[in-house]
Amino acid sequence: MRRKAHPWGAPPWTVDFRPAPRALPDHVDFAIVGGGFTGLSAAAWLRRFAPGQSVLVLEGASLGDGASGRTGGMALAETAAGKLPGLGDVLAGYKKILRAFRIDARLKLPGVSELSRSSPAKHSPISWSDSGELKVVRLVPGGSVDPGKVLAGLARAAEKAGAQIVEHASVRALDFSNPLRLHVRRNLRGRIQQKEIRAEQVLLATNAYSLELSGLRAAAEPKLTFALATAPLSAAQLKAIGLSSRRPFYTLDFPYLWGRLLESNGVIFGSGLVPAPMGMPFRVPTGAPSIENGAHDLRRFTPKGFTTKGFTPKRFAIKGFTPKGFALKGYDVRRGEAAERLRWLENRVRHLHPALASVRITHRWGGPILFTEGMRPIFRRFTPKEFAPKGHPRSKRVMVLAGYNGHGVALSVYLGKWAAEALLARRPLPPWH
Ligand SMILES: Cc1cc2nc3c(=O)[nH]c(=O)nc-3n(C[C@H](O)[C@H](O)[C@H](O)COP(=O)(O)OP(=O)(O)OC[C@H]3O[C@@H](n4cnc5c(N)ncnc54)[C@H](O)[C@@H]3O)c2cc1C
Repeated sequence: MRRKAHPWGAPPWTVDFRPAPRALPDHVDFAIVGGGFTGLSAAAWLRRFAPGQSVLVLEGASLGDGASGRTGGMALAETAAGKLPGLGDVLAGYKKILRAFRIDARLKLPGVSELSRSSPAKHSPISWSDSGELKVVRLVPGGSVDPGKVLAGLARAAEKAGAQIVEHASVRALDFSNPLRLHVRRNLRGRIQQKEIRAEQVLLATNAYSLELSGLRAAAEPKLTFALATAPLSAAQLKAIGLSSRRPFYTLDFPYLWGRLLESNGVIFGSGLVPAPMGMPFRVPTGAPSIENGAHDLRRFTPKGFTTKGFTPKRFAIKGFTPKGFALKGYDVRRGEAAERLRWLENRVRHLHPALASVRITHRWGGPILFTEGMRPIFRRFTPKEFAPKGHPRSKRVMVLAGYNGHGVALSVYLGKWAAEALLARRPLPPWH
């Protein structure tokens, strides 16, 4: 049977892992929502640190359907906001994690070239024409990885350690009861199953999706970004365009451009943003810790024994999540604004250098990015104000880790481990949360 093309196009990565078929459990110690780098890393580490505790990963689509399977795979140091207090060495930690789980993800760290249209370094191997002359300004730590292999490797490690992973199981709502209750809709080869799962703690690793569930609707802004991959280039072509070093690159000025080589010697180039297609209202991030759900989405209930005066526990429902993932109507990389962005990118690539003028494009795709205030990742306990009067233990049970601002390949895996430690109360959350 031919698989229907994804409306966001196909990246050049393969995730050669499918979780073992299983029934949804009734109760778990830890439920992780989202099967991208963040969720899978957290799941693998939770089981490694606490093999006696049950861990369930619920992924609404397929593993890698989000940013992690659509990323460019540049492994970058620090965060998009630079080095944050207490962060530690992201790249060293990333390398260690891949090694700990024996994941051969072709991680190469030769450094990353920062490019600019002004103040070039003396001997820039790159000289491209792109709204001015793009040249190397400096080298920073980093490199590239095969994200398909990272995803498959983390999922395999998590499952081997005893985590349960279920695809096509979307969390539609979360009850802040004791224990927490996840309302899950599973699509089992076309048969729809609804199930309520009880969990002692929940990690929301849903990135640019389900912003109502994670309480990020007002504090973060999802966008769709684009990339393309070329057919393999010859050694002479690579030399001509200054990429013989195989170093990934990104620009410091606008129009933004980033890219990297594939093992095949094809090159990925990426750029461009459009508002994300999740039916979320466009908002400039304000950092305001507000949780907004349409009143029609809230179902009130009172958990047993919970009688705090003036405090009405509610159920948080997600809007905009469909069982087919998040590629909602009208967003198709072959049509409209998204197609236009990709054409613009392709045209730029062809004009960068004569050696690229007639290069064949093999892949065109898009993926979601979550932008946050100050470009800082969001890593916190999620406490809807009305659910958690000061100090109430219920407030400790849901954690959110998301919002890497296009800088999450190494960081998400690194912080996923930290999230596992924090969930097990082995380590505090970072000071910047
Ligand atoms: C085109 C592109 C290029 C990029 N390039 C780079 C790069 O070169 N370097 C870099 O550092 N970063 C890059 N990034 C960013 C990086 O890929 C992300 O920061 C990282 O993958 C985020 O991982 P994640 O696990 O947090 O999110 P995701 O991979 O998006 O995972 C979230 C998952 O949650 C699932 N989900 C959501 N809601 C629900 C629900 N209610 N129930 C169940 N499941 C749900 C989704 O289906 C999804 O699989 C890029 C991103 C894109 C889109």
